[in-house]
Amino acid sequence: MTSVDTLHPRLPSPLQEVSDDRFTARGLRLLLKRDDLIHPELVGNKWRKLAPNLTAAGGRTVVTFGGAYSNHLRATAAAGRLLGLPTVGVVRGQELASRPLNPSLARCAADGMRLHFVDRSAYRRKSEPDTLTAVLRAAGAEGAYVVPEGGSNAEAVRGCRALGEELRGLADVAAVACGTGGTLAGLAAGLAPGQRAIGVPVLKGGFLTDEIRTLQRRAFGGPRGSWRLDERFHFGGYARVTGELAAFAEDFEHRHGIPVERLYVAKMLYGLVALAREGAFPRGTTLAAVVTGRPFP
Ligand SMILES: *Cc1c(COP(=O)(O)O)cnc(C)c1O
Repeated sequence: MTSVDTLHPRLPSPLQEVSDDRFTARGLRLLLKRDDLIHPELVGNKWRKLAPNLTAAGGRTVVTFGGAYSNHLRATAAAGRLLGLPTVGVVRGQELASRPLNPSLARCAADGMRLHFVDRSAYRRKSEPDTLTAVLRAAGAEGAYVVPEGGSNAEAVRGCRALGEELRGLADVAAVACGTGGTLAGLAAGLAPGQRAIGVPVLKGGFLTDEIRTLQRRAFGGPRGSWRLDERFHFGGYARVTGELAAFAEDFEHRHGIPVERLYVAKMLYGLVALAREGAFPRGTTLAAVVTGRPFP
């Protein structure tokens, strides 16, 4: 019953070439890797990360963690409904318990996810074994299969390797937005020698390089692939969308007729345009921009 293949994912995801003068004028090709089309509800990299975890859960309740607008929580809740798996979402912010649910959490609840709100200090310590045990007990989720916040455990990172493998022979550089970095860690591992990946962190902090190394060590036993981060395009931090970024995203949507998710995908595309303008890529380079998701709602 937990076979994710019964959901008919569109894999490999489509690869779409677009004509954009900001690239073509510099002799660059731009391809969009449409992971946003993998599944209507279990969108994008969330599919690639969750699918192996849902299999590993083997029918047990799946419990995971997220903030009030988490794409990962919504994807987990949708997976639960589609596969008939009970899900529990541990949400950061005790105060949210006494307010009407925002649209993202309302969607989770409508998909059957049981929401359990915890205060911020407990949430921060949720990976410490004692805190985790206490949170699971309070949430009535003892014995459940635990997927970490953002979904990036070893299974998830190995699941994202297929994204890189699908791009073999088709692009020189793959660009992806990074939250936890799990998608980049897997993508880089799946690329062929000579291909490289660029990650655009959407959080401010500069801590992600070490975390991606750790994710690759846990998933593969050591470093894999050729990748680097460009830390300049977070626009102030997670969920910050400036007027300039919003205008960029709207313009991209008009040029190419695809919906541009603002928190991750827009920042990656903006970064890629900036890198092209700076002359970061030699003429003749083919770029693949991974469209990891789509706007909510
Ligand atoms: C979750 C998410 C990401 C970040 O993925 P990580 O593996 O955590 O780096 C990127 N893009 C979209 C649209 C997402 O929802």
